[in-house]
Amino acid sequence: MRERIFIGVAWPYADGPLHLGHIAGAYLPADVFARYHRAKGDEVLMVSGSDQHGTPITIKAEQEGKKPGEIADKYHQQFLDSWERLGISFDLFTRTGTANHAEVSHDIFLTLLDKGYIYKATVSQPYCPRCQRYLTDRYVEGTCPYCSSSGARGDQCDDCGKPLTPAELIDPRCRLCATTPQFKDSEHFFFRLSAFQDRISAWASEQGQWRPNVYNLTRRYLKEGLKDRAITRDIDWGVPLPLDGFEGKRLYVWFEAVIGYLSATKEWAKSSGDEGKWRSFWQGDKAKSYYFIGKDNIPFHTLIWPAMLMGYSGLNLPYDVPANEFLTIEGKKLSTSRHWAVWLPDYLARYEPDPLRYLLSINMPETGDTDFSWREFVRRNNDELVATYGNLVHRVLTFVYRNFDGCVPAPGELDSRSQAVIDMAKDTLNTVGELLDNCFFKAAIKSAMSLAQEANRYLEEKSPWKAIKEDRQAAATALNVAISVISCLRTALYPFLPFSSQKLHEYLGFEGRVEDDGWQPRFPSPGQKLLPPETLFSKLDEGLIEGEVGRLGAC
Ligand SMILES: [Zn+2]
Ligand SMILES: [Zn+2]
Repeated sequence: MRERIFIGVAWPYADGPLHLGHIAGAYLPADVFARYHRAKGDEVLMVSGSDQHGTPITIKAEQEGKKPGEIADKYHQQFLDSWERLGISFDLFTRTGTANHAEVSHDIFLTLLDKGYIYKATVSQPYCPRCQRYLTDRYVEGTCPYCSSSGARGDQCDDCGKPLTPAELIDPRCRLCATTPQFKDSEHFFFRLSAFQDRISAWASEQGQWRPNVYNLTRRYLKEGLKDRAITRDIDWGVPLPLDGFEGKRLYVWFEAVIGYLSATKEWAKSSGDEGKWRSFWQGDKAKSYYFIGKDNIPFHTLIWPAMLMGYSGLNLPYDVPANEFLTIEGKKLSTSRHWAVWLPDYLARYEPDPLRYLLSINMPETGDTDFSWREFVRRNNDELVATYGNLVHRVLTFVYRNFDGCVPAPGELDSRSQAVIDMAKDTLNTVGELLDNCFFKAAIKSAMSLAQEANRYLEEKSPWKAIKEDRQAAATALNVAISVISCLRTALYPFLPFSSQKLHEYLGFEGRVEDDGWQPRFPSPGQKLLPPETLFSKLDEGLIEGEVGRLGAC
């Protein structure tokens, strides 16, 4: 039975390049999941987009003497380029600056306002008399009341990590002109999140498919009690309010960015020529929605967005939120401000996409933080991708290509050992599928790789390269079995390693795309013409490790 799968992926801030933490946290698992379901024949819609709003972007623009829109454009283009080169297969990767997104955000805002889930209240806000503007949290700087660091911001102290409010700062000053701000009353809108405490609690307790980290964090917030949150700010960059008299205010970025999942679906439907098609992914029990995000985003997807959807009513709630933990780099916490990060555009300029996809899949931070190191990158590439999988494929295909006129040899009768390997190949496809259905990515790729190891053991035992001299049929049988197993590996590894799987697909003499073969064993027929095989993966020199580690932390 075909399933309908909506995949929403976290919206990256368009204020800097993507790094490996983003990829391991959300984009790679989402893509593996999407490719698997598409291969299985399910209807899949995977969307996300650049988050163009928010103060990190206005601050970056001021630093570089540009307009916020220029910064957002630059990184949006870079994101699109990275998705293409890493093979992250979005059906739509849009942005929050579109008219469509504003329209959908306004509809949700006005509906929630109508139903009493949004209300107005007056709050005291820092105001710079010299700049004549209200200052959002990040625009107020001062001394941290906890650790006395002089560079604390109105949202957080980077030195001790404590969240702050502008009023807590000692000697607060305007980030732009260093004047001491005054506190003035300003009227804002709030989302009545507290009204959803019981409904969200009841709903969350039924989500047995959630990972323990997601479930436990959600319960912790619920135990503390849901609090109403401001959804507007005094800022001129962002989605305007759909009401007169609030021209100086914009929707708070956390409120409108999550609406992007819905607005992106509507944009996708419009551009497909069938405007009503968005409903098939958002209404009715035939569709399931999955949200792939990093752990810092959990409350927005298990509490706030579901509450907004409940308040709006008539749209599907998240089915699963398979949030990943964090990726550390060379044993240290990833930090973009300290440049302790591996930037995706840099990686893609120097290396192939599949080795990274492999390492981040087999070492995915699914249940706890995991570490990326260049030494492990080289080791896994050389010992696992090249030695275990790539050599298996290359050895078998070149030998067959040379000794059997470039065609798949016809097997004789299979002995029990050969039959067992074929059975394992079929079972592996089922196992990998079941694991992926449940978002167990690490276990899924490990299961596929153990099939490659078994195929190597089988070939050692049968040694067709020796057998061919005495018993050509025995060699042909062993090679046919090996080709069948390799063909299953092509499918099982496709969601993780799409580029090399497609190459292998062509070497095996298949036409079209791997994905169109379905999630099932498809064995090349005897006599099928192979393409001249080339290596799937290249060995990496250990010498690169030192250079790459040396780049970390450097500006
Ligand atoms: Zn501090
Ligand atoms: Zn100022």
